[in-house]
Amino acid sequence: MDKDYDLITIGAGSGGVAASRRAAAHGAKVLVIEGDRVGGTCVIRGCVPKKLMMYAAGFSQAFEEARGYGWRDAGGRFEMSDWAAAKAAEIDRLEGIYRNLLSGSGVERRAGWARLKGPGEVEVNGEVLRAPRILLATGGRPAADAFPGLELAMTSNEVLDLTTVPESLLVIGGGFIAVEFASILAGLGARVTLAFRDVLPLRGFDADLRRRLADALAARGVAIASGAGFASLRKVASGFEVERLDGSVLAAAAVLNATGRRPNTAGLGLDRAGVATDRFGAVVVDHDSRSTVPGIWAIGDLTNRRNLTPVAIAEGRAFADTEFGASPARVDHRVVAAAVFTDPPIGTVGLTESQAVELGPVDVYESEFRPMKTAFVGGQQRSYMKLIADGLSGRVLGVHMLGPDAPEIVQSLSVALTCGASKRDFDRTIAVHPTAAEEFVLMREPSRRLPAREPGRAA
Ligand code: NDP
Repeated sequence: MDKDYDLITIGAGSGGVAASRRAAAHGAKVLVIEGDRVGGTCVIRGCVPKKLMMYAAGFSQAFEEARGYGWRDAGGRFEMSDWAAAKAAEIDRLEGIYRNLLSGSGVERRAGWARLKGPGEVEVNGEVLRAPRILLATGGRPAADAFPGLELAMTSNEVLDLTTVPESLLVIGGGFIAVEFASILAGLGARVTLAFRDVLPLRGFDADLRRRLADALAARGVAIASGAGFASLRKVASGFEVERLDGSVLAAAAVLNATGRRPNTAGLGLDRAGVATDRFGAVVVDHDSRSTVPGIWAIGDLTNRRNLTPVAIAEGRAFADTEFGASPARVDHRVVAAAVFTDPPIGTVGLTESQAVELGPVDVYESEFRPMKTAFVGGQQRSYMKLIADGLSGRVLGVHMLGPDAPEIVQSLSVALTCGASKRDFDRTIAVHPTAAEEFVLMREPSRRLPAREPGRAA
């Protein structure tokens, strides 16, 4: 086959960039095609600007605490346009780094929207380019079809470009994006209502974390409106009104739609190429990210496995190592740590309690306390830690935390879980004192020992 490149990657987000660079490092001639900015959702309109907004929000609490520590006149007025300008400059800087990483690795880049044309062929800006391997890494985009009128709401894209703090904000959804922005905008001074259809936010997380997060957000002033789905959203003179399926109406000056994301397949030409997608529109792949068409692979949110940046990067590198390197690699999607950047944040890795008891008897260890820093100034916030161990082997199956520094702490502990550490390994680890993290190695007696759940019995 005539070829222009060894690999054409469509999408220069975290996954596409990582795969392209790794393939080039193995000696491949690589082209990456991107129609938008380089860096993708995480860098341009996701994790990075979100975390910068979270840091901005954290100062309101920090100023209050500072007074308790003896700082006089701590505080000030938040000017969101100042933050927005600084954030824009930082994202420009990071995008520049991404561009340099690509060119420094010898990866060619073209601006444009690519489309699969035929086997080993991609069309961009009217030109057809050929490569024996094509990698699809186009990520996801916000969904806006859950109920009529939802397209009127902001998505996470627009929230990150706000230059003023809305006086009131209604957040629709109870997932990662919903709880993070509810927490952040409340920290910035908006009156926030978090509305979702389940009883608790963060479906799929450990139930003890879900309960405590709802309580913590409420304590921070977020109004929790749970337990009813949504019928419609409409614009009114004062802002927006959403009608719920129980007949109630919620109103706010601004609305954030956080009802999930969809694989970004529009215009890719998947049908024409015969690439199969599932009922969510995600590209169907095997364990090695191969699509149903030979010569076409897909990674990241486009495949809807674990929609997290580091997973997309790992999938991209595994693809490149397997196809262009000396040793094949495969991503283990079973132990993937995750963080939710609320205030307080969540860190979690491994099985939840209800998942663990499906598999066998478990010992559950817990610790709950007021963190030293806020307890000193009379704060009532609590940190919560849970460790779940196999009741027979002692192997640690899950670690969950809600509290300051939870993402940092759980990132380190996820190494132990990846290595298959047992509760005995945690017990013989000497604590670092005084820290919150030391609680995880000082848990002596389980708070409960649970038998394996009988098949068919509910939690
Ligand atoms: P999630 O899947 O986490 O949450 C979607 C939310 O929308 C759920 O609460 C869901 O409710 C609700 N929802 C979906 N459909 C409807 C409907 N028809 N009516 C009412 N509610 C509905 O998606 P997000 O958009 O929050 O985040 C997308 C992904 O991005 C996440 O899965 C995560 O992987 C990633 N992400 C990661 C972050 C991090 O690592 N910190 C931060 C942000 C995003 P229900 O549960 O009832 O179905």
